[in-house]
Amino acid sequence: MFENLSDKLDRAFKVLKGQGSITEINVAETMKEIRKALLDADVNYKTAKAFTDDVRQKAIGANVLTSISPGQLLTKLMNDELTELMGGTTADIELKAQPTIILIAGLNGAGKTTFTGKLANYLKTQRNKKPLLVADDIYRPAAIDQLQVLGQQIGVPVYANLESKDPVAIALEGIAQAKANGNNVVIIDTAGRLAIDEAMMVEIEKVKAATKPHEILFVVDSMTGQDAVNTAKVFNERLDFTGVVLTKLDGDTRGGAALSIKSVVNKPIKFIGTGEKMEALDVFHPDRMASRILGMGDVVSLVERAQQQFDEKEAAELQKKIRKNKFDFNDFYSQIQQIKKMGNMKDLMGMIPGVGKMMKDVEVSDDAFKGIEAIIQSMTPKEKENPEIINQSRRNRIAKGSGSKIEEVNRLMKQFDDMKKVMKQMSNPAAMASMMRRMP
Ligand code: GDP
Repeated sequence: MFENLSDKLDRAFKVLKGQGSITEINVAETMKEIRKALLDADVNYKTAKAFTDDVRQKAIGANVLTSISPGQLLTKLMNDELTELMGGTTADIELKAQPTIILIAGLNGAGKTTFTGKLANYLKTQRNKKPLLVADDIYRPAAIDQLQVLGQQIGVPVYANLESKDPVAIALEGIAQAKANGNNVVIIDTAGRLAIDEAMMVEIEKVKAATKPHEILFVVDSMTGQDAVNTAKVFNERLDFTGVVLTKLDGDTRGGAALSIKSVVNKPIKFIGTGEKMEALDVFHPDRMASRILGMGDVVSLVERAQQQFDEKEAAELQKKIRKNKFDFNDFYSQIQQIKKMGNMKDLMGMIPGVGKMMKDVEVSDDAFKGIEAIIQSMTPKEKENPEIINQSRRNRIAKGSGSKIEEVNRLMKQFDDMKKVMKQMSNPAAMASMMRRMP
C-alpha cells in the first residue's frame, strides 16, 4: 500500500535529516520534493499545492529551522497534516435507526457487491447487528447471484425479486421484509454502469427518495486515481452521499484517491477494502493511514485484526492443551488458518514500523504457508494428534504425499518440536522465571 509514495517522502526528508543546520532554502527544497511525490501518487494539483504550502507555513511557524531535530519535527507536522487531509478523525457509520437503511452506489467493477457482503459481515461479527441484503441490480442477474452466494457464505439473508423490473419497489419490499423478520440493518446493493450515466443517476435518485437511507456509501476503486475523485464529485452532486468506500487498496494503487477525495468532495472515507475475501475490510482511520504513508507502521490496526480473529473459547482450549503439552498438528493447522484470515501477508508486515520499507522489494506471497499446509494435510489423523509417532518412514511417506522434499518435512518437525518446548516453558511459571533470570 502506497509504497512508492512512502519511499519518495522518505527521500524528501533525508535532505533535511542529513543537514547540520537547516535553511529556508532546504525547507523549500523539501516541500518541492514532497509536492512532486504527491503529484506522482496521483494527488490532484490543487490539493498537493495547498498541502505543501500549508506544511511550509507551519514548519516556519514551528521554528523547524532552529529546532534540534528538524527532520523529526517535520515528520510530526507531516503526520498531522496528512491526517487532516484525509479527514482528521475517524467517521463512524450511522447505525441508530431501526432498521438502518444503507444505500450502496458506484460504477460497475468498483467493488460494490463485494463491499455489500463485507459490510454485512462486519456489522454482523463486529457490531452485533442483524443485516439483510437487498439485490437491487435489475440489469445483471449475475450480480444477484453473486450477492446470494456472498450472503450464504457469511450467513446473512438476501432479498431478491427476479420477477420485478422496478428497483424502487424491490428496495421497499426488502425493507418491509427486514421489518417483518427483525433485521435491524438493510443494505441495498444498487445497479452501476461502466461510466457515469444519466439513467443510472435518475434511478438511484428515485431509490434514495423512496427509501430515505441513513447512509449512502459511494464505492470507488482506488486504482483509478484521479478518475475516482472525479466520479466521486459527480455522484456527490447528485446523491449527496454520506461517506466513501475506497476498494482495492491492497493492489498497486498510488494512493492519490485516498489523499484527495476528502478535500475535493468534503465527505469522509469510512471504509477501505484490502482484498477479495469477506474479512478484507477496514474502518478507515486517517491518523493510522498517515503513519503508514510515512513508513511509521500501524501497530494498532495489526493488534485489532488479531483480536477480530481471536475466539476466546478456542484460545482457552488451546491454552489448556499447551499446559498439558498436548498441542498437536491440528492446532498448528488451525493457527495458520487464523493468521491467514488476518489478511494479505505483505499488508500485515507493512503495519509493523520499519518493516514495510524493508520488505518493499521482497515478494511475500500469500502462499507462504502452502508448503506447510500440504505437509500437515498429508499426515494421517493419528499422526496429527500424536506427532511423536512420526518416524523416518512416516516422514518419507508424508514428503511423497505432499510433494515436498524430505528436508522440508524434517524442518517442519524440528520447528514444531522447538515450538512445543517454548510453549511448555511459557506455560510453567517456575520455568519461565528461571529462563528470565538467565537472560542477559
Ligand atoms: P461491482 O460491479 O461494483 O459490484 O464490483 P464487484 O464487487 O463485483 O467487484 C469487482 C471485482 O473487484 C471482483 O473481482 C472483486 O473480487 C474485486 N474486488 C472488490 N473489492 C476488492 C478489494 O478491496 N481488493 C481486491 N484486490 N479486489 C477487490
